[in-house]
Amino acid sequence: MKTPVLIVSGFLGTGKTTFIRQFLAEFDNTERIMIIENDFGEVSFDAALLTQQGIRLQALTSGCICCTLAGDFEKSLHTVLAQADVDLIIIEPSGVGKLSDVLRVCRSAALQDRISVLPPVTIADAQRSLLYLHNFGEFFTDQIEHGQRIFLSHADENLLRAEESAAAIRKINPEASIYKTAWETISLKKLLLLPCQPARKVQCIETVQEALCTDHDHDMHCDHHDHHHDAYHDFNAVTLRSETLRSGIEWKRRAVLMLNSAPGQVVRMKGILPTPEGFISLQYNGGNIVMEETDIVDQTFTIIGAGMDEKMLRRLWKQ
Ligand SMILES: [Zn+2]
Repeated sequence: MKTPVLIVSGFLGTGKTTFIRQFLAEFDNTERIMIIENDFGEVSFDAALLTQQGIRLQALTSGCICCTLAGDFEKSLHTVLAQADVDLIIIEPSGVGKLSDVLRVCRSAALQDRISVLPPVTIADAQRSLLYLHNFGEFFTDQIEHGQRIFLSHADENLLRAEESAAAIRKINPEASIYKTAWETISLKKLLLLPCQPARKVQCIETVQEALCTDHDHDMHCDHHDHHHDAYHDFNAVTLRSETLRSGIEWKRRAVLMLNSAPGQVVRMKGILPTPEGFISLQYNGGNIVMEETDIVDQTFTIIGAGMDEKMLRRLWKQ
């Protein structure tokens, strides 16, 4: 029997891990689930969050499974499949990962007989989609184009903007099912494990054919991939160690400094920081900084963005 594979893609900080955690909460311990988690940065804070739920996980860090880590990704899939006791594999590509390239690996000849790819999920931030489309169109559009179930996160923050985002997404992918309701109200398990909705049958058949690619398709793919590599290098990830104990307010002040005074565009920050009262997680995405107490013991902080000055960020962090 083929092992079902669910890919949950989405741009940096759109809420992929939160989504996966809610999905996992619907399972009991009898189902054997394995997650392949890919982080563009050096350390996977999301992996730590997911393993807290007792899920087996393979983390691929410091790169992206759609390009620089594509080989490692394929190897991981084979390793996971070799364990033979896995009922479901969930793949969380990095925020800058191209869903089309991840799908291509999953549908490769070597894996095609062993896994069945469920309709891919894309999480899109309802408040930031138009901005991402404008600034990071190549990645964002690819994720939207190839997602069959698109969930809008943060839709309730501004309903009008959520509608605009949904309309822009609909234009890019007229076939996808777009979910604007809060995830908490849906049984994700029931929905996501359905191989295909009857109304979408035609689309699913098309996708299967896409996998049977000819030599000609391979040539085209290579061109496309080189192109992607250029864009890929626009992004960088900086990992900072945080050994000094500081209060939450002090850590936040530094995060704000890096957002406002450092060159380049910071898109996402996340990490675990030590305070005199214990560890906190600090996350920045969608314009907000959120701090929470956490049981995770770590001292790494990752910043992902475009055109950032690493030296400058390090200096601001130490100040
Ligand atoms: Zn990539």
